Amino acid sequence: MKMTRRSKCKFIFITGGVVSSLGKGIAAASIGLLLKQRGLSVSILKLDPYLNLDPGTMSPFQHGEVFVTEDGAETDLDLGHYERFIDINMMKENNATAGQIYETVLSNERKGEYLGGTVQIIPHVTNEIKNRVTAVAKSTKCDVLIVEIGGTVGDIESLPFIEAIRQMKFDTLNNSTLYIHLTYVPYITTSGELKTKPTQHSVKKLLEHGIQPDILITRTEHSIPKSAKEKIALFCNVDKKSVIEAIDQPTIYQVPVEFKNNKLDDLICSKLSVKTPESDLESWKKHVKYIKTPVHSVRIAIVGKYIGLKDSYKSIVEAFIHAGSDNKAKVELEWVGSEDIEQKGPENILSDVSGVLVPGGFGERGIEGKLLAVKYAREKNIPFFGICLGMQCAVIEYARNVGGMKNANSTEFARKLKYPVIDLMASQKKVKNKGGTMRLGAFNCEIEKGSKLFDAYEQKTISERHRHRFEVNNDYIGMLEDCGLTVSGKNPDLNLVEAVEITDHPWFVGVQFHPELKSRLTRPHPLFRDFVKAALNYEK
Ligand code: GLN
Repeated sequence: MKMTRRSKCKFIFITGGVVSSLGKGIAAASIGLLLKQRGLSVSILKLDPYLNLDPGTMSPFQHGEVFVTEDGAETDLDLGHYERFIDINMMKENNATAGQIYETVLSNERKGEYLGGTVQIIPHVTNEIKNRVTAVAKSTKCDVLIVEIGGTVGDIESLPFIEAIRQMKFDTLNNSTLYIHLTYVPYITTSGELKTKPTQHSVKKLLEHGIQPDILITRTEHSIPKSAKEKIALFCNVDKKSVIEAIDQPTIYQVPVEFKNNKLDDLICSKLSVKTPESDLESWKKHVKYIKTPVHSVRIAIVGKYIGLKDSYKSIVEAFIHAGSDNKAKVELEWVGSEDIEQKGPENILSDVSGVLVPGGFGERGIEGKLLAVKYAREKNIPFFGICLGMQCAVIEYARNVGGMKNANSTEFARKLKYPVIDLMASQKKVKNKGGTMRLGAFNCEIEKGSKLFDAYEQKTISERHRHRFEVNNDYIGMLEDCGLTVSGKNPDLNLVEAVEITDHPWFVGVQFHPELKSRLTRPHPLFRDFVKAALNYEK
């Protein structure tokens, strides 16, 4: 491993035990926020033990949302949490998978870089893992790098990662590494007891791999009594004050506040020998306040295909929470399967909502239901927000039902079309591989003055992130505009339509990009903010 001078960066490694879905990502993001609010510069790296090069080719049912970074990487959804909490942009290097690590090692082997050596998990794979960690520390020049290890301790596939982070304690200066283990303390209803044994076992597992956790964050549904905390401390080899209770919260945005109340960031800084002022969460708390105690409420339907699993639309859900807080409102999301609309009719499903959002998606299934939802929102003057595929649906619906272009469609769903109003982008025509080949990442968009888009952003040039292969077909823009659709945003370099709206509708906006990816609690996205505001007005 190439490490010339030992870096001054401090490393916090976060592992998870007992069960998955304990919220390691939220814990990492919350710790990142607290350290940032102490004046430290922070970055986060997510290490995913699976073999895919990135989650871009995985089904949303398996993996949840694919989070796209500014520089166009398709990454784990935890990076979304990091951005939303810490308000910094993540880049491609902030997420590495086992697939990427092995790819690098194997390509080095083909180049003969291992000089005839036998290529092994230790040291070649572990060195490559450590290279990724130190590379992020170096390029971001952060004071603290938080490294979240995906999966649960004990998984076969995460072993090389655990081994690599174990070694890092010895590669770095004293007091530069901290191991935080997130575990679960279950409550057994029949005996009315909280059980510490799973945590003990999980820490034993870490110890087997040579890692003594410095801090335990114990997720629980009930407050853990002092005696149980003492037991955990005793059996797991940590001091009592290093057992930090993390009881379920009404909102994930309360987690950093609770961590601060439990003095977690003081503890981290003292263990890492970092001297800073206390963290300041006052402005953060103002945003959390209206999530916990909203003044208004509004119902908005999300009409999509992956309705079963809300993680598929994670950033949209969070963007609504941010926009809701800004409007002092609770946004109640009604999840509507687009195929349900096809069967039951939009009037039987959407009559009690004050806004309709059609999110991104792929493939033909459920499209006709989405088109019915768009038509219903357009005709009934219900605020409508179309994102990516949702925008494409808005264009198709308008072409068919207002422009008289019978059977207008996207070439993603049908061939030999008379009106292919949505078509494959020129740059996509020769693409064969599926992974990492869409139009990805941030691009500029020029906004028309006087549009809803301009009202929201209040600026002429914006930058938003994309993930798509299809686009409004420029051959039909004239026809669509003639019948009343407004193109309110365009990419200046490629002359692509990035946003459409209907002027004589209270709020009908479609965007080719994914605004939800840039919404943060302290800086709600202007389009979500205005959409929620329009929905509240509609409700009145
Ligand atoms: N399937 C559409 C395309 O590839 C929309 C993609 C999306 O919604 N992210 O253009």
